Amino acid sequence: MTDDNDEIAARLAAVRAQVDAAIARRGPGPAVRLVGVSKRHPLAAIEAATAAGLDDFGENYAQELRDKVGARPDAPWRWHYIGALQRNKVKLVVGCALVHSVDRAALLPPLQRHALAQDRVQDVLIQVNVAGEAGKAGVAPGALPDLLDRFAQLSHVRCRGLMLIPPAAPPEHTRAHFAALRRLAQQHAHRRRPHVELGELSMGMSADFDVAIEEGATLVRVGTAIFGPRPNAPARPPPA
Ligand SMILES: *Cc1c(COP(=O)(O)O)cnc(C)c1O
Repeated sequence: MTDDNDEIAARLAAVRAQVDAAIARRGPGPAVRLVGVSKRHPLAAIEAATAAGLDDFGENYAQELRDKVGARPDAPWRWHYIGALQRNKVKLVVGCALVHSVDRAALLPPLQRHALAQDRVQDVLIQVNVAGEAGKAGVAPGALPDLLDRFAQLSHVRCRGLMLIPPAAPPEHTRAHFAALRRLAQQHAHRRRPHVELGELSMGMSADFDVAIEEGATLVRVGTAIFGPRPNAPARPPPA
């Protein structure tokens, strides 16, 4: 275990150095938060990263998030939900610090209902299909204004920005998609809407987070570069 912990700490230090170098290349701009993507990794891996100073963790599977939260209800870190979201799973993800993956209007009523029931305001990002890829999650850029308008009716859900999963491609090809998401946020930030801010841009993964930071990312979602290769089966923590 200790070897694993040392490895995670060493990888995290290397990622942090890359983050800092990318921020230096970018120049003045927003703060960048590193989200460790811990899907399918056990809680022990999260604990190791926390011990090395990481405060934010992202999960892709609603059930796995629920299990991990249940196993560590008083965890000192922030949870992010970054996976595909189904309406009947919304209940499992409300309560985490940020839901990155709201990709259609049908998710808003259950988000509002469960946030209200928990007496909290749920922060979310809108996932955008910038490249217009067929069959991929995310709202089309043209549908974004209508979706943002709907937040005016929601008392307990707040939009904080946009999220992108670009088409698989070498990092330098992905740069254009990152830049497109930034421009989209800037374009829509001009129009003031209740319960909508577009300051956060969640983009960039292990292969390209440095490019994403150069293009304005405020949240980078990094799994493999911190935790190593993912186990095949979802982590099932023992009962708390
Ligand atoms: C798995 C995943 C990541 C992390 O991917 P790595 O390549 O391991 O860094 C980031 N974002 C989303 C949405 C993911 O599903």
